[in-house]
Amino acid sequence: MSSHKDCKPATRIVSGGRRKEWTWPVVNPPVWRGSTHLYENSQDLRGGHPNADGHFHYGRRGSPTQWALSEALTELEPGAYGTVLFPSGLGAISGALLSVLKAGDVLLMTDNVYEPSRDAARTLLADFGIETRFFDPLDLDGFPDQFCDRTKAVLLEAPGSLTLEVCDIPALAAIARDKGALSLIDNTWASPLGFNPLVHGCDITIMALTKHVGGHSDLMMGSVAAGEELYNRVRLKSQALGIVVSPDDAALALRGLRSMHVRLKQSTATALKLAEWLNTRPEVARVMCPMLPGAPGHDLWARDFTGGCGLFSFLLRDCDVQAQSRFIDALELFGIGYSWGGYESLATPFEPSRARSATAWPPEGISQSDRYGIRLAIGLEDADDLLADLAQAFEKMEPG
Ligand SMILES: *Cc1c(COP(=O)(O)O)cnc(C)c1O
Repeated sequence: MSSHKDCKPATRIVSGGRRKEWTWPVVNPPVWRGSTHLYENSQDLRGGHPNADGHFHYGRRGSPTQWALSEALTELEPGAYGTVLFPSGLGAISGALLSVLKAGDVLLMTDNVYEPSRDAARTLLADFGIETRFFDPLDLDGFPDQFCDRTKAVLLEAPGSLTLEVCDIPALAAIARDKGALSLIDNTWASPLGFNPLVHGCDITIMALTKHVGGHSDLMMGSVAAGEELYNRVRLKSQALGIVVSPDDAALALRGLRSMHVRLKQSTATALKLAEWLNTRPEVARVMCPMLPGAPGHDLWARDFTGGCGLFSFLLRDCDVQAQSRFIDALELFGIGYSWGGYESLATPFEPSRARSATAWPPEGISQSDRYGIRLAIGLEDADDLLADLAQAFEKMEPG
């Protein structure tokens, strides 16, 4: 199968990475398990094989199964030269940050970042002498003042973890570039189907493949994509760290990827329907779903994004931690657990105060008693069944 780079995303997601020499005569690349790669003769071994996907060398540099996944992801990511795979989304974030920062550098990290990214900054990066400062992603006017001459990178995430704020990504990335800093973004929520960071001014885009790409709650993986120079830096750093993903996992990720477009469409439509309904409920103080017209962040989402997903949050009105628990525990169709992007719906309680340091929680306009949230990850179940489940859980939430 030849490349279809000029086709629409729905076509590229089906054709990407299926080079004839990696697949023929079956549809998917076989699982190439191998540590040793054999050479024809000693001249072939000495022959200098380029350090790039598509060239056999040794198991740590992958095989056609991993190369096909990298190439399929690169073809979905306008502006990317290549994609480096990591064994988890967090591994991809840490790997990308370590690739562009060194001792003495300062990193600016969005305050609504995925909490383990915050933890990695405070432990791993701090131990390497890299300082992290957190900033309010919605304070565009104050952003230039966050930089000093040691600031070398900015980590964005949009919508933000748990609270789903949408920042002005192109404006923040342009300011970072102007200040001589690289901008990286955790694009797990939107995936390249919903947002293309590299054409909106970001330098590096990161995704937890664990979520939408895997799609079936049975896989951990991450990816980092960038233009040629940064891609090579990340690639060399990951090789120095000895990072390689297993061919079995790469095959699972490829299987998930092929249907990601229709799964996201379906779960987005269901999420929007539920968000609209929640917005009318007296038990709900605020719905935080960028796809919902009138919700916080909707205007920027509509300007910059081409799609959404099933992950959104809402705040319970006049609630305490007991009522929040009663609501979650009454749900019958929603699993209780971390992660998201699977075919099954999940619900998690949150109150993000401890994961914020540069912004206040609750935010302006939200009272203390409305600060407890529920995050829903909508899967592929029937929307009316999920709605009925939420409705009965609201009834059981009432005390007594
Ligand atoms: C889950 C998640 C990650 C981490 O991915 P893992 O594969 O679980 O390590 C990173 N960023 C976001 C936004 C996530 O939701």
